[in-house]
Amino acid sequence: MARANERICYFNGRFVPESEVRVPFRDSSWIYGDGAFDMTRSFGHRIFRLEEHIERFYRSLKYLRIDPGLSPSEMIAVSREVFERNRHLLGPGDDYWLGQRVSRGIRRVEGDNWDYYGPTVIVECIPLPLAQRAKLFRDGIKVLTPSARRTAPDALSPRAKTHNYLNLIVASQEVQAIDPEAWAVLLDVNGNLAEGQGSNIFLVRDGELLTPRERFVLPGISRRTVMELARELGIPCREADLDLYDAYNAEEAFLTSTSLCLCPVRSINGVRIGPADRVWGPITARLKDAYVRLVDFDFVKQYLDRLDEEVPTRAF
Ligand code: PMP
Repeated sequence: MARANERICYFNGRFVPESEVRVPFRDSSWIYGDGAFDMTRSFGHRIFRLEEHIERFYRSLKYLRIDPGLSPSEMIAVSREVFERNRHLLGPGDDYWLGQRVSRGIRRVEGDNWDYYGPTVIVECIPLPLAQRAKLFRDGIKVLTPSARRTAPDALSPRAKTHNYLNLIVASQEVQAIDPEAWAVLLDVNGNLAEGQGSNIFLVRDGELLTPRERFVLPGISRRTVMELARELGIPCREADLDLYDAYNAEEAFLTSTSLCLCPVRSINGVRIGPADRVWGPITARLKDAYVRLVDFDFVKQYLDRLDEEVPTRAF
């Protein structure tokens, strides 16, 4: 039975309490990871760049040849409604991830008795893991590069945000077995830096901002935001093939993601990156300040305010 204060999500045309969602076990995403998703966040309860996330979502769906049965503007309207229906559950210091998920639908098997065979469409929101990630903003992120290489674009494009994260999950599991606090950043099949399970990476070298080429990574919305901010600040920025030699010799490094926005990297494979006496290098700090101005919200403070909270250990 649904609780009174339960979050509401959208499920195949209806707004329902989350616990009432029933995805049949023949759903192609459950069986094969055959689906796509996207995810934005709110800042002070305001949704960030929803249109850009939905554009990327529809590019992922087009790549997978899945028709969600809703237009992008309908998906935007549904997403806004889901957010509004759950806004009252947010504490003043909290914010949501707001996500859209579509699978190809139910695999047809003789004798089955499902009443719906179209694509499965879910729009949901979940609280950001602010307390779990607070330490990253105090200490910087320890990055390790796992042995598994990021899926090659000629096998499956990493530019599509699909429900199949196994390549990234296996890589993160390996890294966490070595150091539970470390974050994986995978190399691509050529030995260049690619991306993490939910993040893009940037290096600073000779005052220039460098990030792996889009062909090999998800084109992160936060990545694009940082590139736009760099342009506005007059910081040169370009995509490049970057290997571990580049990483170890970087003056600064940081990760970008919807939830983190941008967060400094403290070390890569044990090699200290950035200034010795603090975690924010000068260019990373300038970009962070510009990000805070852009979203009109101090996300670093939002994380650091949660430093002392008890947190469950990282699930995955
Ligand atoms: N790479 C991968 C594989 C991701 O899952 C994510 C998270 N969406 C990112 C990069 C960062 O993208 P964004 O800035 O849009 O969150």
